[in-house]
Amino acid sequence: MFRKSKASQISEFFNLMLENNEVAAYYLGVSGFIVRTNRTAVMFDPAGFLKNDEVAALKTKLNLLLYTHNHFDHFKAGSAQTIFKETQASVLAEAKVAEKLAGKIPSDKLVKAESGKTYNFGDIIVRAIAGIHRGPIMLYQVKMDEATIFHGGDSGYVTLTDYPSNVAFVPVGRMSPTASPENAYKMVADVKPQVAVAMHGSAGQKKQFESKVKEGMPQTTVAIMEPHASQRFKLQQS
Ligand SMILES: [Zn+2]
Repeated sequence: MFRKSKASQISEFFNLMLENNEVAAYYLGVSGFIVRTNRTAVMFDPAGFLKNDEVAALKTKLNLLLYTHNHFDHFKAGSAQTIFKETQASVLAEAKVAEKLAGKIPSDKLVKAESGKTYNFGDIIVRAIAGIHRGPIMLYQVKMDEATIFHGGDSGYVTLTDYPSNVAFVPVGRMSPTASPENAYKMVADVKPQVAVAMHGSAGQKKQFESKVKEGMPQTTVAIMEPHASQRFKLQQS
């Protein structure tokens, strides 16, 4: 059987017909995800994961690109520029990332994320939250259509009780010095998502996280995704 290119997998992901109460996620690796509803698409921390033909598959479809911090496994300036050129998507980025992109992305499309602030990009509403890491890091709660999404970069635990979300992307460990299954569990206990997607960790750490959630938060489902796989989540009425 012949294998589909990643670019065509991304195109298929964008062609999925979603219901109003559905969210779909496409995993790029580490903390990189494309997340979409039936009207809106955002991407978190794509680092240098996307080749040019894969970036081309995002064309006109991506509304917002978010970066949590400037570590190489989350952010690559050249890639950010390429993505912007193809998609013209607005970029919301932690200060050091924004500094590196200044002059490369037009200033009306590049927004520096500050902790505690709320940002509006058309219908997308984002709240930025300072995380804890080696160097500064911003975590995001993104409200897009019916769905509220949380993304935890590769942060350690910070209080998140003010950021309830339907789907939480949480870092469970390596190579982050601050992320762990325990910290990811504490994040999820605050955010109380319907679905927790494990990212940024070893297979063993993802499993550990999954058992902790099963035991302590049986109402939350854990998703463990392979890179370049996608998954759809049907949101319950809240
Ligand atoms: Zn990092």
